[in-house]
Amino acid sequence: MIALQGISKRFGELQVLNDVDVDIAEGSVTALIGPSGSGKSTLLRCVNLLETPDAGTLTLGSETLTFTGTAPPISAVLRIRRQTGMVFQNFQLFPHRTVMENVMEGLVTVLRWPQAKARERAMTLLEKVGMAHKAAEWPATLSGGQQQRVAIARALAPSPRVLLCDEPTSALDPSLAAEVVQVLRLLAEEGMTMLMATHDLRLAAAISQQVVFLENGCIVESGAPRQIFFDPARAETQAFVTTLR
Ligand code: ADP
Ligand code: MG
Repeated sequence: MIALQGISKRFGELQVLNDVDVDIAEGSVTALIGPSGSGKSTLLRCVNLLETPDAGTLTLGSETLTFTGTAPPISAVLRIRRQTGMVFQNFQLFPHRTVMENVMEGLVTVLRWPQAKARERAMTLLEKVGMAHKAAEWPATLSGGQQQRVAIARALAPSPRVLLCDEPTSALDPSLAAEVVQVLRLLAEEGMTMLMATHDLRLAAAISQQVVFLENGCIVESGAPRQIFFDPARAETQAFVTTLR
């Protein structure tokens, strides 16, 4: 359902992604692992076109875009972006909006839903992530784990085809990370398609069907979690995975 083919991206002299191919089946979870600076965040940003790849092809559902070094048509960019939801390491909730308003925001301002319908959808999602009781609170009054659960509800609001998560548990203490993992696991069980950069081996092992190991912008190894974590083909993969344990 998502296919990246030959995706390359450079920032000035720095080749950040080099001919990256990834296939993600509908309803599956792919974990993206690799050292800091290997290009994980850039790859996620290329999927929702916050960054425009220099070369390659991106397919998302029925949309396919081929990159040629010029800006793609904005209409195609918006069609693709609207099929994605993004969850960030640092939550990035709107601080001057309540929890409820954070989840409603995109529905009302981008999709032009009426307030009542947006509120109903937001409440359903807040219930799903266990945050309905905080609907009227300000983000700053919540724990990091609670903020991230609200951020997940916000990302899900427009019913994206794929949820992109950039180190969703990295900023959290283990107990707070656990409540976020529980929500992501629930979504995975419900068949949400996800691409997730993470350093959390337990998260990757718990919910992904595919692990992709990125190094210096290249995919050096990919496979089932069991294989990558316990029986990798390459010594470099073994060495990196050991640092995460
Ligand atoms: P990761 O998420 O794996 O840590 P990133 O995708 O954030 O890696 O970054 C990969 C490399 O690209 C890093 O060297 C980073 O400094 C560089 N980089 C990322 N974004 C930009 C940008 N907007 N401009 C210039 N360099 C960038
Ligand atoms: Mg990153």
